[in-house]
Amino acid sequence: EKNDSGWNLENSYAKLPGLFYTPLKLETVSDPKLVILNQLLAKDLGLDAEALMGQDGINILAGQALPAKAKPIAQAYAGHQFGYFTMLGDGRAMLIGEQITPAGERFDIQLKGSGKTPYSRSGDGKAALGPMLREYLISEAMHYLGIPTSRSLAVVTTGDPVYRENPLKGAILTRVAASHIRVGTFEYAAQWGTTADVKALADYAIKRHFPMLLSEQNVYLGLLDEVIKAQASLIAKWQLVGFIHGVMNTDNVFISGETIDYGPCAFMDHYDPETVFSSIDLQGRYAYRNQPNIDLWNLARLAETLISLVDDSQEQAIQLVEASLRNFASLYQQNWLQGMRLKLGIANEEPQDELLIAELLGLMKQYQADYTNTFVDLTLDRTQSSEVYESDGFKAWLERWKARLERSEQTDQDIKKLMKQANPVVIPRNHQVEKVLQAANDQDDFKPLQRLLEVLQAPYNYDSLNQEYMTPPEPSNSPYKTYC
Ligand code: AMP
Ligand code: MG
Ligand code: MG
Repeated sequence: EKNDSGWNLENSYAKLPGLFYTPLKLETVSDPKLVILNQLLAKDLGLDAEALMGQDGINILAGQALPAKAKPIAQAYAGHQFGYFTMLGDGRAMLIGEQITPAGERFDIQLKGSGKTPYSRSGDGKAALGPMLREYLISEAMHYLGIPTSRSLAVVTTGDPVYRENPLKGAILTRVAASHIRVGTFEYAAQWGTTADVKALADYAIKRHFPMLLSEQNVYLGLLDEVIKAQASLIAKWQLVGFIHGVMNTDNVFISGETIDYGPCAFMDHYDPETVFSSIDLQGRYAYRNQPNIDLWNLARLAETLISLVDDSQEQAIQLVEASLRNFASLYQQNWLQGMRLKLGIANEEPQDELLIAELLGLMKQYQADYTNTFVDLTLDRTQSSEVYESDGFKAWLERWKARLERSEQTDQDIKKLMKQANPVVIPRNHQVEKVLQAANDQDDFKPLQRLLEVLQAPYNYDSLNQEYMTPPEPSNSPYKTYC
């Protein structure tokens, strides 16, 4: 056990009742090599990037050695997958502990792709390089867009093949998250544990994420309310940047309000609320426009698990949680509307704003306008020479928007400032993501990936516009597809 990389681990989760996890042994891999390390994140975590890049450091990131005080476990959880309840758990991930940062914050350190666990079911416990780099890239992009998310500290290759349709390079991602407590963790406790187990988990979640509740009357209703608030804010942020998660099963919803599980996710190019990228989402359950409704559905599953804690009277408890769930729609709408106002540079509120926004989105849909770039064009007064901008509908809308801005009584400079802070210039465009992953996978060329990552670290930088990364893909007859 070495501690020269700055590891400072605790294991609070492993103090929960035993049914919540299983201790794991390390699984040997052939030839661990570092592919990418997030030096900025390492620093924030109090880790020494130099030491992590040495073989001792890499061995820890590859699950071949443990830092001091590590206690590897797989977490148990359940979940509704596409509406159906299932027993799950970390099938290919190992929580080695919680890093306490120099700022005193606590983050789960999880190795994803580290081998089989008691929850692996028919899976091999492994992960392939391409999907792990994709998670790294998109989770970091989300972070810099200002969206709460799990983060990625590193990707290592294992030197072992992973068999999917073809043999692929095995890899392990180090995932960093405020915690990995899911709606599905509560479902697991409610289904297979006692009320005392649900209470232990709820108390743990409150202490870890919402300690301000401890002085409240009904802490468990408070927990539900806080999760509803965090999720309403999160999903609004997704919608505002055109992020489609793709697999919003209850096991992929964090109590902390961070985004988790970068499998089939992707960003929308041209605006279409029906957009679905995931190859397995045949009904469009997790389509862009459904994300808020599905999130509420998932929160209702959380609420059900808390009923026995909320009130001794079941009837009373049900009324209370239903009232809480009813708040979701308006919380979400407030977050989204406020975000949209900022995207249009509007600093005050008028009842007609919703209509103004809906009209713009309607035009974007009608003309298949690029979602991200339309807002960039509005920000930069570049609304010329494209089908949508030349339409009479848009010209009329532009007049109404300008009149609206007049009434908000801000200087042009203030308006532009608001818009630049709200409208990203670059998002991880699917065709760019594919291109850099291909170079990494097929040619061991990680430079394109590094370059894209750098650009995505400053998504609101209007000072040096990089056309290469702003250009949408050529229209295609075969829509982009993602895989879990
Ligand atoms: P996801 O669809 O990513 O949310 O994963 C659903 C469940 O499948 C989780 O319990 C995962 O841990 C598990 N799982 C995914 N891939 C594998 C794998 N290759 N081996 C074992 N379990 C896996
Ligand atoms: Mg998952
Ligand atoms: Mg996944």
